[in-house]
Amino acid sequence: GERTPADLNALCDEYLRLTYQGLRAKDKSFNAALETDFAPGLPLVEAVGADVGRVLLNLLGNAFYAVRQRQQSSEAGYQPTVLVSTRQIDGRVEIRVADNGTGIPDDIKAKIFQPFFTTKPTGEGTGLGLSLSHDIIAQGHGGALTVASQEGKFTEFLISLPIN
Ligand code: ADP
Ligand code: MG
Repeated sequence: GERTPADLNALCDEYLRLTYQGLRAKDKSFNAALETDFAPGLPLVEAVGADVGRVLLNLLGNAFYAVRQRQQSSEAGYQPTVLVSTRQIDGRVEIRVADNGTGIPDDIKAKIFQPFFTTKPTGEGTGLGLSLSHDIIAQGHGGALTVASQEGKFTEFLISLPIN
């Protein structure tokens, strides 16, 4: 694909709603709070929109999966929440995709970007999402994809893209 100036706020908003509606269509009992915090006046970023969209689909799919998993442990007062936010910092734009799901155990964190690594049952995950996402952001856009997580609490992926 070709890089064109992309409105990442619009892209994030579209994919967040798309992913959530897709899940709800399959499981009406699933409910999550969607939170957004989009920086006003975010500069356009030279990006392959379809590729960044693919990254968002994967990160959001993982986030909703993680909150559903935690919800199934039926802990009192648990409110599944997925947050997407953007901000401009120096010469780049950052997109955060965060969830208060299962979190990632420390011994697994180092492996999640490896192709075919998955903790999901057969048929529910290929283990290719994060490896592909990492390549799209790093090789495809000269950016970075990093993770912060605490087991049993939260996971936060950070996409960092140079503006030019
Ligand atoms: P898949 O989703 O097919 O398993 P990914 O490459 O997308 O493959 O993710 C690899 C693994 O990283 C997952 O199986 C899971 O163990 C972990 N992971 C990714 N995102 C999250 C998240 N938001 N919360 C908890 N674990 C995650
Ligand atoms: Mg995935």
